[in-house]
Amino acid sequence: MLKFISFGSGSSGNSYLLYTDKDGILIDAGIGVRSLKKALRDYGIPITRVGNILITHDHADHVKSVGSLSREFDIPVYSTKEVHEGIFKNYCVVKKIEGRNAHCLRKSETKQIGEFSVTPFNVPHDSTDCVGYFIQSEDVSFCIVTDVGEITDEIKTYISQANYLVIEANHDEEMLKDGPYPEHLKRRIMGIQGHLSNKKCGEALVENSTEKLKMVWLCHLSEENNHPELARKTVEAILRNSGIIVGKEFGLEVLKRKTPTGIFDLK
Ligand SMILES: [Zn+2]
Ligand SMILES: [Zn+2]
Repeated sequence: MLKFISFGSGSSGNSYLLYTDKDGILIDAGIGVRSLKKALRDYGIPITRVGNILITHDHADHVKSVGSLSREFDIPVYSTKEVHEGIFKNYCVVKKIEGRNAHCLRKSETKQIGEFSVTPFNVPHDSTDCVGYFIQSEDVSFCIVTDVGEITDEIKTYISQANYLVIEANHDEEMLKDGPYPEHLKRRIMGIQGHLSNKKCGEALVENSTEKLKMVWLCHLSEENNHPELARKTVEAILRNSGIIVGKEFGLEVLKRKTPTGIFDLK
């Protein structure tokens, strides 16, 4: 059975694992190698299960450990050519990915990677390049959209095909506006190349969730401009106003910033 774990989500580090009995794909490597190894050990998952790594974009909270991890365990890393170039130039990535393990994906083209059929798609964000992933395995469709300034028509088509969705609920719009961040940073976060607010996340779910959707995980919550309960309540209220009842139509959970979740069965 396909399974999912989040090891950490937010500006201190992002990393998620999708895995089967034989194969696994790590999405982003923004937490330390030691933390990742410990989490895997705690769950009884051998590191060899991480057959491949997918990267969404080259910001440090998504790539800090990608070079070390890939080198230590000889793991291939997939992303777009631009993201690979960004990782190479990123001084936070001290150990670089070896050339033979750096593999390029093209947006909107599906590639079979081990047991996973992977389609990267364009996501507006102020990194060198940014993609979301639509991943199919064992008849289950999983979609991740994080660090996303706005939900484009293309993103909508992937959300509407997903059984399981990880989507950003970065900030509460009022908290960000009234909060301590300097104006230029507030503008950056609120911009179409920035991050998705709780409100926009809720609206995206109202517009694009279908009967296929079973579970939504809210990811990449801001420590300063959001609270897990507030994110959940805001999204839930927007859904309720449109007649969508959380727990009936689909489940909703907030991913913790620094603590691994349990193991979720995706069937
Ligand atoms: Zn990020
Ligand atoms: Zn980012």
